[in-house]
Amino acid sequence: MKKILITRKLIKDSEEKASKTFEPIFNSNDELYSQSKVVDMSSGCDGILTSLTDKMDKETINKLPDTIKIISNFAVGFGNIDLDAAKKKGIIVTNTPEVLSDATAEIGILLILGACRRAAEGIESAREGGWKWSADYLIGKQLTGTRLGILGMGRIGQKIARIAKSLGMVIHYHNRSKLSDDREDGAIYHDNIKSLFSVSDVLSICCPATKETENMINKETVEYFPKGAIITNVARGDIIEDEALIDALNRRKIYAVGLDVYKNEPNLNPGYLKVKTAFILPHLGSATKDTRIAMANLAVDNIDEFFKTGNCKNKVN
Ligand code: NAP
Repeated sequence: MKKILITRKLIKDSEEKASKTFEPIFNSNDELYSQSKVVDMSSGCDGILTSLTDKMDKETINKLPDTIKIISNFAVGFGNIDLDAAKKKGIIVTNTPEVLSDATAEIGILLILGACRRAAEGIESAREGGWKWSADYLIGKQLTGTRLGILGMGRIGQKIARIAKSLGMVIHYHNRSKLSDDREDGAIYHDNIKSLFSVSDVLSICCPATKETENMINKETVEYFPKGAIITNVARGDIIEDEALIDALNRRKIYAVGLDVYKNEPNLNPGYLKVKTAFILPHLGSATKDTRIAMANLAVDNIDEFFKTGNCKNKVN
């Protein structure tokens, strides 16, 4: 039986599945292992099941024992892993696409609704008490008829588009490549971000964190948006240059943000906490029981498939 290091505690059903498939090393206290601890603990293992909290950079990967043949990431994103370093060391990297798209799209929609309808301020007022209803109390922005820009119209972006369309939003998007007509489903393609941002009353960021997308929202690009636009991010914090966005919020160039992900999680830029219209969540995208089980099971299956066939359909490097 293959020996696998599982760096974070999984939901019980998934740990049971892992025990039937491999000889796993579990993390029963769910301790956040340092990079050197991951290296030490992987001694004698054939693979590692990592989470997005594991920073598998070049230095860490180069120190892994030669017995490690696969890093199976418990996420669809893989910005935490240096894919090239893994490839050079003969390690395949896999992810868990699709099974989390519905849950993450729900949070993507929650961010749009929460930011547009001033949910952060509303929740605070309701908890404090003493609020007074009036015709102009906590007036927000209605979604009906507004333009939603989707940056990264992939699996999650397309699901968000479908729901947003049913709420009366008009969908625009940018990918590096235009989708087929049936996948577009009436959405309007923009071949560059300036063109997309300039028509986005609301933006939903759904693209992966890569060298290309890092800080795509920055001092210059934030000016492309219509005044009073709303920016939401359900993808990864690295795509936003926080100082530029916080400054745009303070100037009211950007009306509100809806954020699930941040640079340096869990230490988000304190500037967001001072902005009343910031609707912020603690990385809840895939956080439903069914989805987390499906993700962990897929991460286990990816390792099993690789050791049985020498390949894996969810290989990303
Ligand atoms: P996906 O199906 O691969 O979609 C990604 C989309 O981004 C594709 O349409 C791709 O189109 C586009 N894209 C990639 N690079 C781009 C670039 N440089 N410029 C513009 N568009 C680009 O991925 P997914 O399953 O929808 O997941 C998307 C991301 O969501 C993941 O990478 C992950 O980081 C994040 N996520 C977050 C949570 C959470 O808990 N908040 C949960 C799940 C996923 P082209 O290739 O044509 O450019």
